[in-house]
Amino acid sequence: MFKGSPSVCTSNLVDFVILFQWEVVQRTLNGSQFYTYSVCNVGEREQDNWLRTTFIQRRPAASRVFVELQFIVRDCNSFGDSSVTCKETFNLFTSESDADVGTTFRKGQFKKVATIAPDEITSKNELHINTETRVVENLSRKGFYLAFQDIGACVALLSARVYYKTCPATVKSLASFPETVAGGENQALREVSGVCMDNAISEELPRIYCTVDGEWVVPVGQCQCKSGYEEVKDACQECQAGFFKAAASGDKCEPCPANTQKLNSGALVCPCMDGFYRAPTDPPTGPCSGLPSAPRDLVATTTQLSTGKLLLSWQPPEDTGGRSDITYSIECQRCEGVVCQSCGEKIRYEPASTGLTDTKVSVSELDAHLNYTFTVEAHSGVSLFASQITSMRLVERTSTSLSLSWDVFPRPRVQSRPIRYELTYRKKVRRIYKNFVQISKLAPGTAYLFRVQALSSDGTPGGSSMEEQFETSLEGTEEDHRGKSFTCFTGFIIIYRKRNSHTRQGPEDTYFSSSEQLKPLKTYVDPHTYEDPNTAVLKFATEIHPSHITKQKVIGAGEFGEVYRGILKVPGRKEVAVAIKTLKPGYSEKQRQDFLSEASIMGQFSHQNIIRLEGVVTKFKHAMIVTEYMENGALDRYLRDHDGEFASFQLVGMLRGIAAGMKYLSDMSYVHRDLAARNILVNNTLECKVSDFGLSRVLEDDPEGTYTTSGGKIPIRWTAPEAIAYRKFTSASDVWSFGIVMWEVMAFGERPYWDMSNHEVMKAINEAFRLPAPMDCPSAVYQLMLQCWLQDRSKRPRFGDIVNLLDKLLRSPDSLKTIADFDPRVSIRLPSTSGSDGSPFRSVSEWLESIKMSQYSENFTCAGVVTMDQVLQMKNEDIKNIGVRLPGHLKRIAYSILGLKDQTSTLSVFAV
Ligand code: AMP
Repeated sequence: MFKGSPSVCTSNLVDFVILFQWEVVQRTLNGSQFYTYSVCNVGEREQDNWLRTTFIQRRPAASRVFVELQFIVRDCNSFGDSSVTCKETFNLFTSESDADVGTTFRKGQFKKVATIAPDEITSKNELHINTETRVVENLSRKGFYLAFQDIGACVALLSARVYYKTCPATVKSLASFPETVAGGENQALREVSGVCMDNAISEELPRIYCTVDGEWVVPVGQCQCKSGYEEVKDACQECQAGFFKAAASGDKCEPCPANTQKLNSGALVCPCMDGFYRAPTDPPTGPCSGLPSAPRDLVATTTQLSTGKLLLSWQPPEDTGGRSDITYSIECQRCEGVVCQSCGEKIRYEPASTGLTDTKVSVSELDAHLNYTFTVEAHSGVSLFASQITSMRLVERTSTSLSLSWDVFPRPRVQSRPIRYELTYRKKVRRIYKNFVQISKLAPGTAYLFRVQALSSDGTPGGSSMEEQFETSLEGTEEDHRGKSFTCFTGFIIIYRKRNSHTRQGPEDTYFSSSEQLKPLKTYVDPHTYEDPNTAVLKFATEIHPSHITKQKVIGAGEFGEVYRGILKVPGRKEVAVAIKTLKPGYSEKQRQDFLSEASIMGQFSHQNIIRLEGVVTKFKHAMIVTEYMENGALDRYLRDHDGEFASFQLVGMLRGIAAGMKYLSDMSYVHRDLAARNILVNNTLECKVSDFGLSRVLEDDPEGTYTTSGGKIPIRWTAPEAIAYRKFTSASDVWSFGIVMWEVMAFGERPYWDMSNHEVMKAINEAFRLPAPMDCPSAVYQLMLQCWLQDRSKRPRFGDIVNLLDKLLRSPDSLKTIADFDPRVSIRLPSTSGSDGSPFRSVSEWLESIKMSQYSENFTCAGVVTMDQVLQMKNEDIKNIGVRLPGHLKRIAYSILGLKDQTSTLSVFAV
């Protein structure tokens, strides 16, 4: 069978095998010779002459086919006497079959499709070829036959063509839709989902309908080019060099704004040129501005000197750097002879000494005998971001402390609110106001890396120093004479202290804050944003010399090579047990970068429940990633090996750790995408830590990854529906996965959804089914799982909520005593319909909402079905009768009712 594109048909002459009275006749028409199937028994009564085609295979989706016939019918009048019995029509029949029956022919199996009559009949003098097309509907079997019945006409069949219609493959709104066979009368519109073109994304899957005539109509939803790309002729093209696009939208790329660097193609934003900055309130897509020049023509008017008063006024800077948020600050120095010092708080400024928007200030309470020097500085929103930290110095050191100082340029104003600095050293960050700090309680004889960064008042980072390395002295050396009592300044300090690499500390050591509450300190930086991935590794990971690493035993197989247990012994530091991930020989540069990307990501994290990076080997042939060693390996396997050996509160304790790690990641805006028990590692104190951070891991590494239509790999049974449907990976989709991890943990490493196929899992989830409570699972824990699996991702709890709730459960062990229902005789747990015991459905409308069928609420009410008990009595016929007509909706409602009452079903999931 041939297909016809909409309106144009491809020809296919079908073959005939069965001939009763019909014969093949060679004819000459318009000078060319061809064969016809002919019959012409016009003089005889009761003719019943059949011609049948060979078996015509049907493409599964083509339920409606077209039959186009070319034929000649002779005028009965031209047969004189015979015209009494002569006919001028013939009949088209069809018969469906799943197999070719060869030459077997049973008339009774054929159904009549149409009577075929010519538009023009052929007389003795004039030949007329007729063309007629008929439709055969509702085909469902593997193939079919056509047959022609002659009942006494003089007919010659020139050709019979069979075709079906398709909507051709197309691209609309940046989504590609596959070629689709048009439906038949039972499905006049076929809904087809599209796939976004490369580099385009969509919130909702774009859809379109294919009509019976092979035409696309009513496109719904659309894809948009992602950031860095714009639409050009049905495709997404990278923004040209010098242009940028910051977000997915239908907009074109825009030229880089003033004072920004014109990057290569595909830019998301245009970074500021050297010497130009954006204030935190400036849009990242806007222009950058320079620093204002100095205010001009400073004048001091001393009208009331006797009262110690002075009016300073000046002109605005010549160059405002392109900004209107110019403010001024005054600095005062008091000099006696050659000795000058800051005026401090001795004098008064009206209205103020900083943040002035007017170009004047009144200064009072001056001492008439002294010389004052006033400096007026102009500032703008970008002034702080221009701060440069230069030359960090080691001032003092003891076995456990280092004292450092540095310079900042431009110099901070003396009287104004001081600049705060953020000091980063390996595993420690402090926020301080002075350009000097003493860090105590360090390990003796240990090298630490330091970096200082200026912060704006809202914590936005400005310029930072180079990373510098300083070492504490060895214990007992003469440098260590200062003891531990050295205090060097008063002021505001926030210390963010991370676990020391080599001493085990309790969880309370993880943070401490000497004053204000700790805000999320950092945001995760995608190593991809670095043009050179090697720069990212260097920034986030410490280089280790391979001679300090000893491999002992293979403990696992990673995507890129073996994973070893081993020892890390850096001179001057205690040796530690580590896991060493290796890159197998023969790797490509891309593979090496992908391999090291895991270190670039892991190196940015520092949390008790995130696997800790010790460092990397990148400068030698055999690249390695070295992490802390987790004695008990992967969590899923560990739990399977210790099935039933832990009490609920121990399991909940593990979950609390994982949730805390995930909260940390989500606070840093890092979305894991592959949270599963197999990616959690367990140490010998049963601490659980989140691992597996490679950029390519979701694509390649995970054996659970299943290819989706868009080519990506997704671990279906751990992934939230919206992430499967349209790649909406968020912390909320991580929460869904966390719910699955909860289930895995409470079920001692059982495989989620057991042996159901990925397809069955997706179908069940879409139909609002969820995993049942594992055996002996506390009810409160199971309720939390169900919350994590809410379809509406905005309703799912956040990791912060989850940590709080698990903490609460751990604090009151009684709360874990109520066990979620589990009926050991059947593998299905059924929700009760009473609603009083916390069951999911308290009313018909709640149930309908849960299966997304709320639109029928009224139908149920009008029909008097108002309780769940009544719902359970309903038969399919009843559902139809109350007005649910669409087969899909009927099925969903009926299936859900079945799920509610089928006590013996072996389906191991249930509806929420
Ligand atoms: P991965 O490539 O991270 O999936 O690691 C492969 C396997 O190596 C894991 O499933 C673990 O069994 C083991 N493994 C990886 N990292 C560690 C570690 N830090 N401590 C102990 N075992 C590990």
